[in-house]
Amino acid sequence: TGALNVEQIRSQFPILQQQIEGKPLIYLDNAATTQKPLAVIQAITDFYTQCNANVHRGAHHLSDEATRRYEKARDRVATFIQADSRKEVIWTSGTTEGINIVANGMAQRLQQGDEVLVSEMEHHANLVTWQQACVRSGATLKVAPIHDNGALNLEAFQSLLSDKTRFVALPHISNALGTVNPIKELTALAKQKGALVLIDGAQGVAHGNVNVADIGCDFYAFSGHKLFGPTGIGVLWGKENVLQDWPVWQTGGEMIARVTYECSTWGELPNRLEAGTPNIAGAIGLGAAIDWFMSLDLSAVQAHEQALMASALEQAEAFEGLKIIGNAPTKIGVLSFILQGSHPADVGFILDRQGIAIRTGDHCAQPLMRRLDVPGTARASFSLYNTLEEVDALFVALKKARDMLA
Ligand code: PMP
Repeated sequence: TGALNVEQIRSQFPILQQQIEGKPLIYLDNAATTQKPLAVIQAITDFYTQCNANVHRGAHHLSDEATRRYEKARDRVATFIQADSRKEVIWTSGTTEGINIVANGMAQRLQQGDEVLVSEMEHHANLVTWQQACVRSGATLKVAPIHDNGALNLEAFQSLLSDKTRFVALPHISNALGTVNPIKELTALAKQKGALVLIDGAQGVAHGNVNVADIGCDFYAFSGHKLFGPTGIGVLWGKENVLQDWPVWQTGGEMIARVTYECSTWGELPNRLEAGTPNIAGAIGLGAAIDWFMSLDLSAVQAHEQALMASALEQAEAFEGLKIIGNAPTKIGVLSFILQGSHPADVGFILDRQGIAIRTGDHCAQPLMRRLDVPGTARASFSLYNTLEEVDALFVALKKARDMLA
């Protein structure tokens, strides 16, 4: 495989061509959301200019065409994550909703004495949701600890698994630290105890191949907007035999089979978990994003992102007064840090003045920040359209910040 043609890729992202404060924009907030290539913007525009109509209901041309594009996008997702069947691909509004669908169903099945296991590196979406499912059902939430470097403590994880463990929910990649978890191995351990497993794939999908069959999990949830697609659309993948009788989440149109005043029956997968008019343009946009992403050489993408990470880590380690937060051996996409003696918010402000967009704060992971004993971090997060020059520019700007804040 050749090197990734980053300039050619960048030319497809109009938003990256602008200046901020008279300086070229350097967008390093990709873990929050990624930018959208022209192919995605065009697919959404085409939908609204050519065939906007509701899906699955009209007896007319526009509706047929909208339905065709919408269901084709579902096929794209199934291929992308290597699902066995398109019935396993449920549209959601994002990772958060996907996790809520699963936790809501689980809350109806958990009992006192049952346990749900998460980790110390959860995003609130995969923590609060399970905490509340436990509150509702009387089950107990267990939290697998991490090491100080941000890697999951595998021995502790294993010792927390027991016959009481009914559900395990873990992130593929931590949004706050960049830690890549050995999800296949962790899933296998959980399955040995008979637990169901959900992987929070919000940060996992944009860095290369996801193969849900190979992981062996029961559910994998992700958001379109972190995969170069639009906001407001996401996917919950679940094994067909698990989704088949999963408690329905919302009720209404589209998801039913037969309705009387007394009772109703639910439709078939995937519609039984998709009530109401869906985000049609969003789904089509996400389909286009996946087409675009899959047209790239994904091993070249991974090599490029590894090179960005390696350069960032090397420069961070050599940077006086900078403390890296989270330095697990397997790590991608995220450099979290603090500049000693300064608040992350001030660092973010000074970088913004130099055209560099990062995120600062607790990254929706308050208990993780407490565990690492930091108020929050500054986080630079990289995507395939970032360059090594941009990583260098980050550290030039950080030197200025260090001088100003000293
Ligand atoms: N989990 C992780 C690891 C995330 O990074 C995010 C988004 N920051 C979410 C869940 C929630 O995703 P969304 O807000 O798109 O639903």
